Amino acid sequence: MPVATFLDFLRRKQRFLLTGHENPDGDCLGAQTALYHLLRALGQEVAIVNPDPVGKSFDFLLRHTPFQHARAEEQLPGFDVVVLLDCCQLSRVGVLGQRLAQQRPTIAVIDHHVGSEQGDGTVCYVDAKAAATGALVRRLYRELGVPLGAAAAEGVFLSLVADTGWFRYSNADAEVFAMAGELVASGVDGSRIYDAMYRRNHPDSAALLADMLGRHRLRLDGKLAIASLDKALMERAGRADFDTDAVLDPLRSIEGVEVVALLKERFDGAVKCSLRARGDVDVQAIVAAFGGGGHKKAAGATMKMPLAAAEAAIEAAVQQAVAALPTRAR
Ligand code: 5GP
Ligand code: MN
Repeated sequence: MPVATFLDFLRRKQRFLLTGHENPDGDCLGAQTALYHLLRALGQEVAIVNPDPVGKSFDFLLRHTPFQHARAEEQLPGFDVVVLLDCCQLSRVGVLGQRLAQQRPTIAVIDHHVGSEQGDGTVCYVDAKAAATGALVRRLYRELGVPLGAAAAEGVFLSLVADTGWFRYSNADAEVFAMAGELVASGVDGSRIYDAMYRRNHPDSAALLADMLGRHRLRLDGKLAIASLDKALMERAGRADFDTDAVLDPLRSIEGVEVVALLKERFDGAVKCSLRARGDVDVQAIVAAFGGGGHKKAAGATMKMPLAAAEAAIEAAVQQAVAALPTRAR
């Protein structure tokens, strides 16, 4: 759908409920922040309601932007439209998604994942080439000629750094660097945001990282690095508010590794799987077979099976994907 059509639709609505996927990450929260202030600037009513609270690493956003999270006993604010950011289906919004679905809402999707036009959106602004959902919201400001305020600028910056690994991944394109340059020129303090996100860890965090890295195994002649985190370790991580993404990078740094798999046992027994590709393997295609999604180089899925079974299934799927690569890429 052309962006002008999407914006015409939004402009005709008055009350917005912005939401996103469970355990909202920096891109999701940053995009919500920017969209909140855009809609407010247009004179509309907006509430951000997420399935989970804002994590400690992102609490600097709360200075300028109100975030709520859905509690079963509380009523949701009234709305004309639900805006899904950084995902495209209410099924990714947890119990809140189920509550919203009962109201058969009109849904607007703003997302950068492969295939998100085919989600629950009544209207969509989707660009799978965009590095971050926050970049899409930044484009909406431009389309509408609304200047970006300080809070929104911080949100867009957070989106960009969250999804490009602080400008290191292959999705850090010219648009990302141009936007980031502009944001820093307008006063965003990247170093302060970095410190807020990564320099306030719990005393157990270093030991946790060591224990989690200690769980990794190299498989498939060193092409797959896989780490499985059982419930006990996940509970410890929860108590320390530890971001398990920290495990991914050291595993990705091993020469010869094509795919990193992080499997986390959840409290309900399901397994949250995160895959990262370093070379030409398409991990989005791998997780699609398990009902997941994401991007070519970063994707995830929720697998309803025991941890050991999930490990075996992922190893088999990665083996197939690696075998299918042209010899040169292997
Ligand atoms: P992460 O591994 O950091 O949770 O997610 C990596 C990418 O895959 C993100 O873009 C995320 O939105 C997507 N992703 C993660 N889990 C799921 C899932 O269960 N379903 C879908 N459709 N996408 C997921
Ligand atoms: Mn994203």
